[in-house]
Amino acid sequence: MDIKDFLKPLKKISLPDRLFLVQRNFGKRSHIQVNQQQFKADPKQPVTFLCPAKVYEHNEATRECIVNFENCLECGACQVASRYVVWKNPDGRSGITLKYG
Ligand code: SF4
Repeated sequence: MDIKDFLKPLKKISLPDRLFLVQRNFGKRSHIQVNQQQFKADPKQPVTFLCPAKVYEHNEATRECIVNFENCLECGACQVASRYVVWKNPDGRSGITLKYG
């Protein structure tokens, strides 16, 4: 089977539905810090489109980065993609758990 055929059914599932398949055991504090000064100076950060969970949003009004840390999938891409992001292991007992799979 071609990889495109394999991935086709996944493209039909919306992001909120896909995020629902992951259970997070995070604490209430964000485990992700963004250097807002540097983000304001350079808002076209790769993390805003690379993060698979859309954790980083650009607020057009304030020019700041909104961090939806509770959606994080712990993939580590932001640590590679941006030096303006500091990611630490989340508070809580066990991080993410896949509900299915
Ligand atoms: S670890 Fe992955 S899912 Fe979490 S914020 Fe970084 S890029 Fe997004």
